[in-house]
Amino acid sequence: MINISKKQTDMPVQDAAVRNNNFDEVALGFSEEQAIREAMRCLRCRKHPCMTEGCPVHNNIPEFIAKITECDFEGAYSVLSETTSMPAICSRVCPRYKQCEGKCVRAKNGGQPVAIGALERFVADLHRINNTPKVETCTAPGSKKVAVIGAGPSGLACAEALADQGFRVTIFEKKNIPGGVLTYGIPEFRLPKEIVEKKIDDLNEKGIEIETGKELGEDFSLDELTGKYGFSAVFIGNGAGKPVSLGIPGQEAEGILTAASFLEKANIEKTLPSAKKIIIVGGGNVAMDVCRCAVRIRGAEKVTVVYRRSPEEMPADPGELKEAIEEGVEVMYLTGPVEALSTDGKVSGLKCIRMELSVPDASGRRKPVPVKGSEFVLEADLIIEAIGSSSDNECLSGMELSENKYIVADPETGATSITGIFAGGDTMTGPKTVISAMNAGRKAAMAIAEYLRS
Ligand SMILES: Cc1cc2nc3c(=O)[nH]c(=O)nc-3n(C[C@H](O)[C@H](O)[C@H](O)COP(=O)(O)OP(=O)(O)OC[C@H]3O[C@@H](n4cnc5c(N)ncnc54)[C@H](O)[C@@H]3O)c2cc1C
Repeated sequence: MINISKKQTDMPVQDAAVRNNNFDEVALGFSEEQAIREAMRCLRCRKHPCMTEGCPVHNNIPEFIAKITECDFEGAYSVLSETTSMPAICSRVCPRYKQCEGKCVRAKNGGQPVAIGALERFVADLHRINNTPKVETCTAPGSKKVAVIGAGPSGLACAEALADQGFRVTIFEKKNIPGGVLTYGIPEFRLPKEIVEKKIDDLNEKGIEIETGKELGEDFSLDELTGKYGFSAVFIGNGAGKPVSLGIPGQEAEGILTAASFLEKANIEKTLPSAKKIIIVGGGNVAMDVCRCAVRIRGAEKVTVVYRRSPEEMPADPGELKEAIEEGVEVMYLTGPVEALSTDGKVSGLKCIRMELSVPDASGRRKPVPVKGSEFVLEADLIIEAIGSSSDNECLSGMELSENKYIVADPETGATSITGIFAGGDTMTGPKTVISAMNAGRKAAMAIAEYLRS
């Protein structure tokens, strides 16, 4: 008889003192026995808020979990496939404590939620490893051509859904490797690259062409795509990857990097800059990815996250923060950067100031204000800015953009102000999540198919 615990089945993880020396995945995944034990904890409650309120794509969570209890793991995968095209990825990176697990009825009355993310990952990994049938090419010769700009989750999901319906799809990606943030941003220890590569391979096998090193606005224009190159529709999923800068004095010193360029070094070049004292400015999930890569720099002695508000306002996922601290990262709250200090052009420290919180600002969080005369200096030979990113939509002349230069489009269809041009993901919403970008790509694909058939 299985004992149904109020506690989640623990996911095995690499020990903190070991993992902070490598880039292997931290979480090791459930065994079959662990997955079944955890699946038995699902209450099959009547309203299943995990699915209806928690999951942005409404994965049928009770149904796929029920299949696990019946040891029908492929059946569980099929249930997930109805609503998601990236279960192996989303199960690893979704902010599930806010989404499905945040709504789990098991978590009420002092219990812990069912480990929905870990169960999804178990099912998706098992399918990927054991059971992947050869993906068939589905595009029909002579069918209409669609161009997709950007090979991040929104573009990949849109391209796949269109190819599944028989359209000929070409993705144009400005970087040399497809995947968007999945490839360039999220570190290997949270999302192994082989999982993203497998997704890309599947798309290639479906007949989708991916042209890398091709940038809209540089190598071609929207008009050229729909005119001279003969595409009947375009989906724009170019993300919101333009880094926001601190804008403090001394910023031009050598040794100050943006989060994007630092993470690209970690993920693609696989060479981290050498540094002993590293400061990361920011308090979100990107700051967590950066500081956790920074502790993995050989020879790093001190990695400090400088955040201007208090722990209550910190946007980082609590699980990410906990793992970062376990790995040796220090966090200084209520601390704001004032000036980058340098010696012979190389960064040597960050002048900071203590902050206190006043009334809430537009974000609803209490506004940090500097405490007069409280400046102090932290030594540093590397400073990384992780304070956000914005859109890079200068290339979209003639299209309606919001005040912040995001694309204005129908949230259900992705239709933009230009007929035949659709958009979705971060370029429309601002920086959000993988699952919302994937969902936007899939929804736009449905709308594009309807547009092309009408
Ligand atoms: C470091 C980091 C960690 C994150 N961690 C998480 C997480 O754990 N969980 C989560 O849910 N979300 C996370 N996010 C957010 C999530 O990754 C994004 O919301 C998601 O990737 C958005 O998908 P997208 O397709 O809209 O854009 P992107 O993933 O940004 O992809 C856009 C693609 O378009 C390409 N492109 C841009 N301009 C052009 C052009 N002119 N021509 C051709 N190609 C172009 C880019 O090179 C890129 O490949 C993270 C973000 C970052 C930066």
